[in-house]
Amino acid sequence: MKKLYPRCHPYWKNEDGNIIKNNSIKGLAVSADDFLLPCCWLDMTDRDNERNGITYMRREHLKIQNNDTIDDIVNSEEWKHFHRVLLEAPYDAPERCKIKCSKALPKGAGNEIR
Ligand code: SF4
Repeated sequence: MKKLYPRCHPYWKNEDGNIIKNNSIKGLAVSADDFLLPCCWLDMTDRDNERNGITYMRREHLKIQNNDTIDDIVNSEEWKHFHRVLLEAPYDAPERCKIKCSKALPKGAGNEIR
């Protein structure tokens, strides 16, 4: 796994180390059991969450009802860790992310090098 181009993240780094701004960020999702998710593709069963190594994203304190704002959740250590893995250690990323976000969007899809 060389790198990921997470649709949920505001930027990526290409093979040359250039920052590519993601102009079409995939939106957050909310699960039926009250968790905020980086995207709808991660709305999975408990078993799939285990297989993908992301049960930490569903810790009790991350439930929406246990937070005052969305920022409290997306700025949590768990979410920071998740995004750090996507960009810096893609080999450890969830399999679902490797399947969905392993290719850069084609040119003209709203992305730009900055
Ligand atoms: S599949 Fe993973 S990397 Fe892709 S948008 Fe969803 S959370 Fe982000």
